[in-house]
Amino acid sequence: MRVTVDLGRCNAYGNCVIEAPDVFDIDDANGLAIVLDANPAEEKRAQVQAAARLCPVLAIEIED
Ligand code: SF4
Repeated sequence: MRVTVDLGRCNAYGNCVIEAPDVFDIDDANGLAIVLDANPAEEKRAQVQAAARLCPVLAIEIED
């Protein structure tokens, strides 16, 4: 699984960090998301999918 964030869309809501704190963080400098782990382990799939679903601007993409 490969995770990317479209920073052109990200609006710093932070939902992704709440859902998957091992995979996402917020950049203190600009408030936008950082992908901490672009290739998360399979057991994190549910968390990452929840983060993608709950991102208000649908900025998170998951590729298999
Ligand atoms: S939930 Fe979406 S908009 Fe909010 S910080 Fe994460 S990627 Fe950005």
